[in-house]
Amino acid sequence: MRIGQGYDIHRLVPGRKLILGGVEIAHPTGLLGHSDADALVHAVCDALLGAAAQGDIGKHFPDNDPCWRGTCSLYFLRRIRDLLASAGWEVVNVDSTILAEKPRLAPFLLSMRENIASALQISPDQVSVKAGTNEKMDAIGREEAIACQAIALVRKRQRIEPQPL
Ligand code: MG
Repeated sequence: MRIGQGYDIHRLVPGRKLILGGVEIAHPTGLLGHSDADALVHAVCDALLGAAAQGDIGKHFPDNDPCWRGTCSLYFLRRIRDLLASAGWEVVNVDSTILAEKPRLAPFLLSMRENIASALQISPDQVSVKAGTNEKMDAIGREEAIACQAIALVRKRQRIEPQPL
C-alpha cells in the first residue's frame, strides 16, 4: 500500500464558474485557471499521482498546453486512474478537505463524492469530501481564493491491466 497527498489553491474571480468536485455551484465568483480550475479534483489528482510517485498534474496536463483549456478536471482524474491502473495500482480511498469562506458547500458534498468516485471507478463510500472555512483569515478568509487538500491510499493489484491507448 502507498499513500499520497495533494494540495491546490486557485483565485476566486468574477466572471468564472465555480466548479468543485465536478459540481457547478451558483456563486458570484469562480475559480481562475486554465482548465475548469476545479481545485478539489486537482488536489485529488496530485494525491493519487503522489501515491504512485508519478509526478503531479502539471507534469501530465501542462497548463500552457492549449488543448487542456477549459477541460473538465474529472477528465484528468479518469486519465490518472487509468495511468495508475496500468502501473498496477488500485485506489483504496480518498479523503479531502475544501477550505472556502463562502459559499456553504454542505449541500454539494455528496454529488462531489459521487463524481470523484465515478471517475475513479470506485464507490462513493471510498471517497470523503469535507468542507470548512478559514475563520475569515488570510486570502481564503477574504474570499479571494479556495484551497483544497487531499490524501489517497492505493494498493498493488494482483493482475496488471493492459496499457490504455
Ligand atoms: Mg489547480
